[in-house]
Amino acid sequence: MRRNIRKRRRRGLAFVAVCVVAIAVILFIRYENLTAQAPEETTANSETSQPTDPAGTDEPITSDEPTNSPSDAPSEEPSNEPSNEPSDKPSDEPSKTEEPSKAAVATAGEEDGIPVVAQPESVTVLVDKQYKLPDGYEPTDLVYPDVRFTFNDKIDKRKMRKEAAGALEDLFAGAEKDGIYLAGVSAYRSQATQKALFNRYVEKDGMEKALTYSAFPGTSEHQTGLSIDVSGSDGKCAAEDCFGGTPEAEWLAAHAPEYGFIIRYPDGKDAITGYKYEPWHIRYVGKELSQELEDKGLTLEEYYNAVPVTK
Ligand SMILES: [Zn+2]
Repeated sequence: MRRNIRKRRRRGLAFVAVCVVAIAVILFIRYENLTAQAPEETTANSETSQPTDPAGTDEPITSDEPTNSPSDAPSEEPSNEPSNEPSDKPSDEPSKTEEPSKAAVATAGEEDGIPVVAQPESVTVLVDKQYKLPDGYEPTDLVYPDVRFTFNDKIDKRKMRKEAAGALEDLFAGAEKDGIYLAGVSAYRSQATQKALFNRYVEKDGMEKALTYSAFPGTSEHQTGLSIDVSGSDGKCAAEDCFGGTPEAEWLAAHAPEYGFIIRYPDGKDAITGYKYEPWHIRYVGKELSQELEDKGLTLEEYYNAVPVTK
């Protein structure tokens, strides 16, 4: 009996030992399969995205950006592990930074609660109700353009900055070739003059109404020396609504951009520019920008993504 019991115990122990070994073998084989498959997956990936995988999972974050095109990055997203996600975010950023690089209004501080433009001397400067010139700004290169004016005095409002004055002479000459005889009404205006003018309007109509047709001191484009109000040579409807629709106004609208000027406050854009239609007020911005604005149908505010202007 005892022998039988011992035999059974031995058999039982042997069976357990065999089972343990068998389990160990099965586990070992499985483990080997797993480790053998892993390289296959990575090589399979490396066929579609060579730059990312040979370098490992950490390095691609930095090495990915310059080598991979943005269209490749999203296709890797589903197949790859979360460690690649950060490398996708930077790949989106370049497309975002491209948009604002078009144009931006550089400012340097505030005056009277209005941002001050950083480059008042730039011919493409944006000056409006949202962006003002530095207090007391005066252009350094004001000259008298050699064109007809509605008055004879050699006074400030006949002046423009040199580059704009030359372009204005070309524009007037071009108009005459088409049988259009223009005259200057008002060009440069100092901040002091604008202040006196504005205060007079405020006394007459009140601040709110005055702001709809006259500029707060320091925010008038006339202070840049790049703007001029123009009429027909007879001086009728000078800087008045009735100038709209005249042959002179139509010629200006059609041809000003050829000479580097724009109709600064176009019809129907008053919510954007902050001013009602002024067919007589032209602004020099240089031929390159005037053509671009003309081609795209943009105001200066829209070009600089600086809309809407609050009244
Ligand atoms: Zn004007």
